[in-house]
Amino acid sequence: MPPESPIELAEPVDREPARGILPRVQHFSASSLNAYVDCPRKWFYNYVCRAVEDPGSSAALYGTAFHAALEDFHEEFVHPVPAQESEMRERIRQQIAWAFERFRADFGSAVEFTLQLRRAQRTAQRYVGWLVARAARAPFTVIGRELSASLQIEGYDFIGYIDRLDKNDATGAVSIIDYKTGSIATSAAEYREKVRQFRDFQLPFYYWAREAEGDRVATLALIPLKDALLDVEPIELEVIPVTRDDGKSKGKRGNEAPYGTIPIEELERARERMGAICKEIMSATVEHFPVTKNPDACTFCAYVLACNDRPAPIENRFGR
Ligand code: SF4
Repeated sequence: MPPESPIELAEPVDREPARGILPRVQHFSASSLNAYVDCPRKWFYNYVCRAVEDPGSSAALYGTAFHAALEDFHEEFVHPVPAQESEMRERIRQQIAWAFERFRADFGSAVEFTLQLRRAQRTAQRYVGWLVARAARAPFTVIGRELSASLQIEGYDFIGYIDRLDKNDATGAVSIIDYKTGSIATSAAEYREKVRQFRDFQLPFYYWAREAEGDRVATLALIPLKDALLDVEPIELEVIPVTRDDGKSKGKRGNEAPYGTIPIEELERARERMGAICKEIMSATVEHFPVTKNPDACTFCAYVLACNDRPAPIENRFGR
């Protein structure tokens, strides 16, 4: 006879009925909603469970340091003029070096630090080149840096920070500037399409936040600061009152153009969608946050090891 087991196995308990989750979210941000539309499961992990402390990557640190350098740089150069070009080139070199030095300990290795610093120094010189050309074309004044933006949409609080706010010296029109150190849309038409499809809420949120403060926002611009080998060419959308179907909305280079337009009604729809997403999240009826269908979204996800339901990478699907 086998010896009696010292452990008595209990019958499994009944599974708890599924019920919705009420996230303890104090406020929203455009980037958190971007994460939600990118992958609701990632949003759940990140904003509800707070399951993993993401240490960040050297690419993210590059962005943080670059933003800090530009904030300092424009404290000094509030009204950039072409005559200051050589002075600006030297100062931005110093600001980049100083900003990266502040974050040196967070980089994984000395090699990563050096490579990212060199990339930033080259890109910053291209940035000054663009700044000089822009100031010569239409003189402007920097009226805000890392400006706090807050707005209530459908009763939900949103907060964020605008990288830079410029005012055209001749017309008084305001431009919202967002520095981008990662991949972005390659044309104004592509970015506008992302807004139309509710896949990006960043610039619509900034637009409504500044309009609520009384600004007359004329343009929304993304400044690409990722590639040291390319000239800085912003993706810029002029805000227009109504949709144009006359081809002007696509700019001179058609769908490839970095300049285009966006009608207020599309920004309005984006704002309404932001409110609808918040309502859905806070309704406590979501029982299951689905995973993305786009495997690209998983590439840099901090939860990739814990996420069994993630879509297979494209290359693996052929092997099945
Ligand atoms: S691994 Fe992919 S599917 Fe899973 S949470 Fe991250 S982004 Fe979403």
